[in-house]
Amino acid sequence: MKIERKSPLYDGKSKIIFETDHEDLAIQYFKDDATAFNAQKKGTILNKGVLNNQISSQIFRYLEKHGVHSHFVNRISDREMLVKKLKIIPVEVVVRNKAAGSICKRLGLEKGTPFKKPLVEYFFKNDSLGDPLISEGHIEYFQWATSSELNFMKNTALTVNKMLGPCFEKIGLFLVDFKLEFGRTHRGELLLADEITLDGCRLWDTVTGESMDKDRFRFDLGKVDETYREVAVRLNHYFESQL
Ligand code: UDP
Repeated sequence: MKIERKSPLYDGKSKIIFETDHEDLAIQYFKDDATAFNAQKKGTILNKGVLNNQISSQIFRYLEKHGVHSHFVNRISDREMLVKKLKIIPVEVVVRNKAAGSICKRLGLEKGTPFKKPLVEYFFKNDSLGDPLISEGHIEYFQWATSSELNFMKNTALTVNKMLGPCFEKIGLFLVDFKLEFGRTHRGELLLADEITLDGCRLWDTVTGESMDKDRFRFDLGKVDETYREVAVRLNHYFESQL
């Protein structure tokens, strides 16, 4: 089936969502643009769009094969992914295996402190408020999601963590934390959405402890383009060997 790209529905910091001639489908276009610290820092990462499209497509395909459904339909070009059209729930679901980033500042934890079991946190997706931390109570009170949707999001996030941790381990990376988003189809089906890429995960080299993710861009650690390429190559080898 040939799908025709129409006008943009949403132009974001790292992706554009286009309408298509099919009412249930959209095209997610991956840019090279990178932002950090609530868009105060801006730049580009060479080929990031192509690599993130590849990484996210492979991960969504892998998850689907193991029973985790997402909006992913197909990778249709270097930078384009065909997805189911969703209304995004304004909540970011973060799973943490070790302390890093905002939780260290918020709770005074030492970077790298392991959590005995994965910790789930929620953030309100709102740029002007700087994506504040919220509780399950806020999500239900403000009706961003029902309690069964919230359970589904939390359980899916923990399942994704269980499934991806070993994949990254096989390619020498520890999955420190990651962010997921969810959305509803116009029929009300709740699905994993957005992307799973180096932009939204922390990955530490299991031998050296070096950051192999967007923290290289955030904190000017150097070798940003090379790291994105390196992780994409390693993941590609891993997923190809699984076929
Ligand atoms: N994250 C993201 N988008 C956001 C905020 C966080 O993808 O708007 C990811 C981030 O890359 C990390 C995890 O979610 O893997 C946890 O981020 P944290 O709360 O530590 O915030 P940070 O200090 O990275 O902004």
